[in-house]
Amino acid sequence: MARRTTRPQPTRHLELPASLRICPECGGPLWAAYRSRRTVTTLDGVVRLGIQVRRCRAPQCRRLGVPLRSEQEGRLVLPQHEFGLDVVATIGRLRHAEHRSLPEIHAELVRRGVPICARSVGNLLDRYDELLALSTTDLGRLRRITAEAGRVILAVDGLQPDVGHEVLWVLRDVLSGEVLLARSLLSSTRDDLAKLIREVSEALPVPITGVVSDGQDSIRKAVQKALDGVPHQLCQFHYLREAAKPIYEADRHAKVQLKKKVRGIRPIERKVEGRDDDEARAIRGYCAAVRSSLTDDGRPPLAASGLKLQGRLTEVAASLDRVAVKRGSRRS
Ligand SMILES: [Zn+2]
Repeated sequence: MARRTTRPQPTRHLELPASLRICPECGGPLWAAYRSRRTVTTLDGVVRLGIQVRRCRAPQCRRLGVPLRSEQEGRLVLPQHEFGLDVVATIGRLRHAEHRSLPEIHAELVRRGVPICARSVGNLLDRYDELLALSTTDLGRLRRITAEAGRVILAVDGLQPDVGHEVLWVLRDVLSGEVLLARSLLSSTRDDLAKLIREVSEALPVPITGVVSDGQDSIRKAVQKALDGVPHQLCQFHYLREAAKPIYEADRHAKVQLKKKVRGIRPIERKVEGRDDDEARAIRGYCAAVRSSLTDDGRPPLAASGLKLQGRLTEVAASLDRVAVKRGSRRS
């Protein structure tokens, strides 16, 4: 049914890179082909997604030209949906774990700022129930999903829209984009997860040749237990964030130390308060430069705040040195 109200404007943009760079069929490179755009309403606002799509270009490959979309798309939203999986999971939890009525769920979502109409809440609850009803005993469905690729690259995602409540685990096939199994679990230990993964792998008529996840500790260990020897790739973004952690920690420490050295700007500013001569103006300028460098944070993991601060303070100090040389005195 066509929508009767206009879609809200996106509140943010999110680019989703495709982590798989090797063709699962021929092992050759996958080339970036284009970006697919779609808008998704999530608990955190209306998001405009830019989904990277890669393709194999090897003329003899069976997957020649077959699009492979970013693995991260499926962790945010199901195919053909306009609401995020986090909204679907929240509706399911409010209905089944908290036994709320549809109007109550609708009111709760509106309270959280999710632009949604009452009718959509009912539809999404149906989608949630369908998702949870997917069964690995439906061999016909699994055959249909996997026939074309002849293998599965498994994505394992845990969604927990509300901290402290159960996690909706979704096991997807990256190559077909289809959900293989979804379960809501109160505890998500390595063994719980390994059981789910094994259930899928035993039911599948084709092998699992790779796993993609955000690299969470319990997932890593569960994959190791259930699918020993199958390569496990972390999503690029999470991988980068993990890899940058020690650097981030060192940088943060350096910044704290640097900040200690430039304490006492306020007393200096106070001393020249009310003065309007050149010297006072210059002093105020330097104070402002130091002050703004303290609050100019980089965005980890790509920009290090400590290094940035170090760079700016070095410039301020060099400038002060130049002034001192001109005057023939040393700075204190
Ligand atoms: Zn290929």
